[in-house]
Amino acid sequence: MNALDTQARRRLAGLLTKFGLSLEAGDTPCSNWIDGELRAGEQDSITLINPATGGELIAYRDAGADLLEWAVAAATRAQAEWMALTASERGRRMNAAVRRLEGYEEDLAQLESVVAGKPIRDCRGEVAKVREMFEYYAGWCDKQHGEVIPVPTSHLNYVRHVPFGVVGQITPWNAPMFTCAWQLAPAIAAGNGVVLKPSELTPFSSLAIARLLESGGLPKGLINIVNGLGPTTGAALTSHDGIGKLVFVGSPASGRLIAEAGARRLVPSVLELGGKSANIVFSDARLDDAVAGAQAAVFAAAGQSCVAGSRLLIQREVFDAVVERVARAASQIAVGLPEDEATRMGPLQNARQFERVSGMIERAAAAGARVVTGGGRPEDLPPGADGYYLAPTVIADVDETMEIACEEVFGPVLVALPFDDEADAIRLANATRFGLAGAVWTQDPARAHRVAGQLRAGTVWINSYKAINVMSPFGGFRDSGFGRSSGLDGLREYSVPQSVWVETGREASVAMGYGDGRE
Ligand code: NAD
Repeated sequence: MNALDTQARRRLAGLLTKFGLSLEAGDTPCSNWIDGELRAGEQDSITLINPATGGELIAYRDAGADLLEWAVAAATRAQAEWMALTASERGRRMNAAVRRLEGYEEDLAQLESVVAGKPIRDCRGEVAKVREMFEYYAGWCDKQHGEVIPVPTSHLNYVRHVPFGVVGQITPWNAPMFTCAWQLAPAIAAGNGVVLKPSELTPFSSLAIARLLESGGLPKGLINIVNGLGPTTGAALTSHDGIGKLVFVGSPASGRLIAEAGARRLVPSVLELGGKSANIVFSDARLDDAVAGAQAAVFAAAGQSCVAGSRLLIQREVFDAVVERVARAASQIAVGLPEDEATRMGPLQNARQFERVSGMIERAAAAGARVVTGGGRPEDLPPGADGYYLAPTVIADVDETMEIACEEVFGPVLVALPFDDEADAIRLANATRFGLAGAVWTQDPARAHRVAGQLRAGTVWINSYKAINVMSPFGGFRDSGFGRSSGLDGLREYSVPQSVWVETGREASVAMGYGDGRE
């Protein structure tokens, strides 16, 4: 059993109080935001552990089916109210809603940092993204034009984009605020109501955001947050008849369950899943940039990022030099407590992830791979950092079929693999079930575009890594999922085209079969 982390608990309690998520009698925090009301869960207790110290933080209760029922009903009612407004008014309200975050940015960042164990600097960046996403999609509210199709009959045929009604969203623990706003903003911009379930490990930041947004003028119940475990509250959400579409961000294993649950009810889904992205360094690349890019690509967020550049493919001539330089850069990353301003890499978020990553490193070493740097707990951790810390790790002498080279690690582990030429690099990069992202480092522009065009990945960077913006579509191939988020593509996932036929002829032209009405 983990000891109570009284200091972090006090800090968290203070933050929850600032957002009105105060502890109820018996110390149970309100963990659901439904129909404009805060409610504690009604089912089993879930205990959160501080990732940085390993101490017990707080416990809350799983929402359960009854609260979910209420959330879907609230979203259904509020969605009708939302759609009764003009499109421009919806845009204005989205902008007003996100302005309610002003003055709370630092508290939101602190809340995310203490629960998710992420460096405070990273969390501030995440809050800024929330605002960016809402402002971007607010602008789309009154620009979702339909089309007029020049059909070969006397009809006027137009197409408009119709919302699903209520969408169900499920998000992971690695970027709770980012993924929450990432999916909430396009969903409501397209005219839907939402029931969102964050990861059971990071329940509070989405709750705080939803509450602030609603206070800025969104209809009561348009956004509902329910917290609980995947197999209980999550499964109740995916199987609820009132949900018209499922949007899931998480692991491929859970993604399959969510898509299956949707398919049973013939409800479509978007899956944003994991990755094993290839970061390709050609010998003609500017190696200083490539090395800086390679270490940031995988060690940011302690590797707990879906787009982590976890496979570094290096042209053989420069392999040893690049591995040595990336390992040196990795060993210099400031690993520390999330609240410390100097910290660039924090702990892994939870015990399960820590054990999974540690086990993968051990099995790689046992299979003959060489741990160039890292591989265990970092030395020189500050006092109190007794949580789930792993040093930035670089592994070489890896066979491409080894588990460490094929499976998503989701931790601070880089696997370096040599390649001979362009064709070999493309073959290796695509030799994965995943297809989320990848990068090419070279000074030859023709090669850069040639290789990028042959990578089976939803996002490709050239001489860069991890540039992501809400304006540009994001998503994967195969085990990295399907459907798109961000940009206009992401918005379109939240509506269906409806085709309307209006007879404009003097006489109605009625066809009996598939004719055009002129038989
Ligand atoms: P996870 O799949 O374990 O959990 C994600 C969410 O699914 C949680 O809210 C969980 O409670 C819920 N869930 C689990 N089982 C469920 C079920 N049967 N029914 C309904 N809901 C269920 O993932 P995780 O460990 O939280 O996150 C890490 C994974 O997320 C990694 O694979 C990472 O690559 C991926 N990820 C992908 C993206 C992307 O945009 N592609 C972004 C962030 C994270």
